[in-house]
Amino acid sequence: MELFSLTIHELQGLLVKKEISAEELTKQVLERIEQVEDKIKAFVTITKEEALKAAREIDQKRINGVSLGPLAGIPMALKDNMCTEGIKTTCSSKILYNFIPPYNASVYEKLLGAGSVLLGKTNMDEFAMGSSTENSGFFATRNPWDLNCVPGGSSGGSAAAVAAGEAIFALGSDTGGSIRQPAAYCGVIGLKPTYGAVSRYGLIAYASSLDQIGPFTKDVTDCALVMNTITGHDPFDSTSANADYPDYTSFLVNDIKGMRVGIPQEYFGEGIDPEVENKIKEAIKKLEELGAIVEECSLPHTQYAMPTYYLIAPAECSSNLARYDGVRYGLRAEDADDVLSMFSRTRNQGFGVEVKRRIMLGTYALSSGYYDAYYLKALKVRNLIKQDFDQAFEKFHCLLTPTTPSVAFEFGSKSDPLAMYKQDVCTIPVNLAGIPALSLPYGLVNNKPVGLQLIGKAFAEGTLLRIGYALEQNSQETRITPILEGVK
Ligand code: GLN
Repeated sequence: MELFSLTIHELQGLLVKKEISAEELTKQVLERIEQVEDKIKAFVTITKEEALKAAREIDQKRINGVSLGPLAGIPMALKDNMCTEGIKTTCSSKILYNFIPPYNASVYEKLLGAGSVLLGKTNMDEFAMGSSTENSGFFATRNPWDLNCVPGGSSGGSAAAVAAGEAIFALGSDTGGSIRQPAAYCGVIGLKPTYGAVSRYGLIAYASSLDQIGPFTKDVTDCALVMNTITGHDPFDSTSANADYPDYTSFLVNDIKGMRVGIPQEYFGEGIDPEVENKIKEAIKKLEELGAIVEECSLPHTQYAMPTYYLIAPAECSSNLARYDGVRYGLRAEDADDVLSMFSRTRNQGFGVEVKRRIMLGTYALSSGYYDAYYLKALKVRNLIKQDFDQAFEKFHCLLTPTTPSVAFEFGSKSDPLAMYKQDVCTIPVNLAGIPALSLPYGLVNNKPVGLQLIGKAFAEGTLLRIGYALEQNSQETRITPILEGVK
C-alpha cells in the first residue's frame, strides 16, 4: 500500500489499529521524498533523522497507552518562514541562509504537542513575495502536474510536497494568496484562516496586518483536523483573537440545503480564462443540485484591491525587513570598511530583486509627503473593500469565485512583475478584509488543476468546510492526484 498517498484520517485509522507504525509511515514518506525530490525540489531542508526519532517516540507513547490525537505520527512539512528551534529557517533568502532559530513558532509547538512529525522545511518565494517560487533565493520548485510549470507561490514548496506525496499535510502562509494560489495550481486543499485565528508568533513577518498561517491538505476532513490543532488564542501574538474556536469536524455534515452562496460578478469575465470559468460554473451547478441557493452579487471596490495591496504590503515589508542588517541575523558582507557600508552591502548581497523592489516601493509610500497620498489612502480603500464583504455577508453564507485567473503557468512566462502580481486578483481582497477563504480543486483544464475559492465572514471557516465537504462528497472533480512523469 502506498501510505504516502493516504489522508490524515485514513492513516490515523491504520495507526490506531496498529496496522502500521508511525516509524514505518515516516520511512515510507521519506522514501517517496528520495524518489521524487530531484524532480519537484519542494524542500530547502529535510530533517530525516529528527523525523524518524520523533516517529519512534510517538510509537512508544502508543505502546504505553498514552492517548493520542488525530495528528499523532503524521508526517508533515512547514514552509521555511516558520521558526523551528535548532533547524535552519531561511525564508528562502540568502540573507537568512544560515539562520537557526532559538525558539519554535507557536504553530509548530502546537503540532509538536499533537505528535506530528516534521519532515522538513519547504521552499518558497523569498520572504513570501511572489506567486511561483521563482523568487526563491536558492532554486525553484516544480509543479507535480507538469514539471515545466510553476507550483504557484509563495508557499509553492508546501503545496507541491502535499500534491506529490512528499508530506501528508503541510503549512503555508498567505499574505495575498500564498496558500490558496499554490493549492489551486497543485490540486490540493488550501485554507487561509481568519486574521488572528492562527498565531503568527514565530512566523517571519512579510506584511504583518495581512500574513496568516494555514493548512495544505488532500481533503476537507484533513483540513478540519489540522485547523483543530493550529487555531486558538496565543498570548505571544498580540493580534491573536481570543475567540471561541469550534471543533471544525462538526461542520462536515454533507448537507447544504438552503445555504446562500453569492457569486460576485467582478471575479468573472475579463482576465479570467474562459475554460477555468466554465469549470467554476459546473461547481455552481453542482451546489444548486445539492440544494444551495445561488445568486449573483457585487463587490464594487474589487478593482482597487490590487493597487491597495501593493501599497500596504510593501510598506509593511519595508519596516519588517529593516532588521536584516548583518548585525543580528544571517549573512554579513565581509568586504565593508565601516558599519554603514556593511549594512548596505549585506542587504544588497542578501536580498533578491523582488524583495529590493518592494522595500523601495514601501519606503517611498511611507515617506513624509507621500504617506497621506499613498499609504493612508490605501488604508481607507482597504476599509471600503472590507465593507463590500460585510454587506455581502448580510445576505450570503459564503461567496464563490475562481481561486486564480488561470491554471499553472510555465517557468519564466511571467517575468513582468505586473503580470505576476495579477495572479492574485482573486485572492488579495480576502487578506485586505481579514476574512477566511478555502481553495479546493475542481477538475482539470489542459490536464492542470482548477481551484475554486469559497470566501466566508470572519471566523466562518466552519461554513466553508461544510460547503467544501458537500462538494467533495458529491463530485469526482475535487479529489485529483497527479501522475508524476517517470515515477512509478
Ligand atoms: N503573490 C503575492 C505577493 O507576492 C502574495 C504573496 C503571499 O501571499 N505571501 O505579495
